[in-house]
Amino acid sequence: MKVNQIIRRLGLGVLAVGLILIVAAQVTGHSLKATAVELHAGWLVATVLVVVSLLVLLEFFEQRRQRQILALLAKKLREVTAGQKSGHVLVPKNSELSQLASAVNQVQSTNTLLLKAYDRQKRGYFGLLEYVPIGVMVIDQDREIYLSNHYLSDIMERELELQHELYYTTLAEFDLVKLVEETFRTKQDQQAEVRLSLASGLKIVAVNVVHIPVSTHHFFVMLLVNDITEQKQIERMQLDFVSNVSHELKTPVTSIVGFSETLKNGALDEPETAAKFVEIIYQQSQKLTELINDILSLSRLDSGLVVEHQTIHLAQVVDQALQPYSQLIAQRQLTVKNQVSADFLVVTDVKKLRYILSNLLQNGIRYNQVGGQLRIKAHKKADKWELTVSDTGIGLTSEQQGRIFERFYRADTSRSKEVDGTGLGLAIVKEYVEFLGGKITVTSQLQVGTTFTVSLPVKHAKD
Ligand code: ADP
Repeated sequence: MKVNQIIRRLGLGVLAVGLILIVAAQVTGHSLKATAVELHAGWLVATVLVVVSLLVLLEFFEQRRQRQILALLAKKLREVTAGQKSGHVLVPKNSELSQLASAVNQVQSTNTLLLKAYDRQKRGYFGLLEYVPIGVMVIDQDREIYLSNHYLSDIMERELELQHELYYTTLAEFDLVKLVEETFRTKQDQQAEVRLSLASGLKIVAVNVVHIPVSTHHFFVMLLVNDITEQKQIERMQLDFVSNVSHELKTPVTSIVGFSETLKNGALDEPETAAKFVEIIYQQSQKLTELINDILSLSRLDSGLVVEHQTIHLAQVVDQALQPYSQLIAQRQLTVKNQVSADFLVVTDVKKLRYILSNLLQNGIRYNQVGGQLRIKAHKKADKWELTVSDTGIGLTSEQQGRIFERFYRADTSRSKEVDGTGLGLAIVKEYVEFLGGKITVTSQLQVGTTFTVSLPVKHAKD
């Protein structure tokens, strides 16, 4: 108890004695002094002691209540720092601790708001990490995984969301670990293209490792992994395509230049040789035109196509597609059977169908045996319709069947060498068929013949 509190209590005791004297003087009608003498001095002292004791008792209870409030406030502050939920501490307004209590309650309210905001931010941040199409792993300075998203697990083809595991035991890819360690060592960001040998095969990933300082002594390392395998494959295919095209263009151009030079340098004077050379130049120019047309079709495919549906009589379109080859059919003494019924109607993109048909028919004629047969059939099958082109030609081995739809592929047969071709026709046919929502398959037997089946979805005039 403080000194001023004791003085205050004593003062109150003296005041109480004074009051007793005044009340007694009033009752007896004597003076204050006489009353004091009348009342025994011992009683007065006893009264003072009783009053003081009562006041001390009161003070004791008051102190005990305040200690309880303080203990409550301390508990509450501990709960606030631990992020636990707790109710407000209610203290009477006249209490000495009321201001402290309301300050603590205020701290709690502010803290709850901050925690809510932090929680919202955290959820947004984690949500973002889950949905970005990039593999992400955040590693703390003890090399433990702080978080990693499912996309990284997809890329790495195994579960990686093992929080607090050492990252290198989970990641276990030498080139990746090397890059991350480089960031730990130098505190500098790293970038590289890494090849990963995984169960599904080789993957190429673009890796960024970022050093994120949090405070003077704390930092995180963030690993970002982007799967670029497909992009790399496309780049490779484009490069291959360009080099194949250049190679294919070079052959006819070289022979055109060579033979025309020879003609210019005197061969014109020998009519027989000149005629032979002109024929070669003509054939090579034809080949060049064919190649350029195919390349143009491919570039049209790459730059996007539009579908234009219309209702057609398939048998008529087949007949029209056969017309340009009538001479060749006669030359090779082929029997062509268009077995598509006259009332077979389909809704399709006729321009694309013409290209598909024309290529399949041309191949069926060119790679046929002399005196062979070419048969075209069509039928409907549930929500699909099928077109088949069968020949009795040289046929294909199963290895060749697996490759004929590749750009520039030409089966290495004596007939293919005789026939001028670009190796692009079937690649374009396949892309057109797939563009129309269908698929193309081939069955073949060497020296027996080949059948191409184009299966397309049934469309209706309003589609
Ligand atoms: P091209 O005929 O211009 O060489 P394609 O892409 O049309 O190119 O055909 C690729 C290769 O597939 C041909 O070179 C040929 O070897 C083979 N081929 C295509 N159609 C047939 C067929 N009906 N019979 C046998 N081989 C075929």
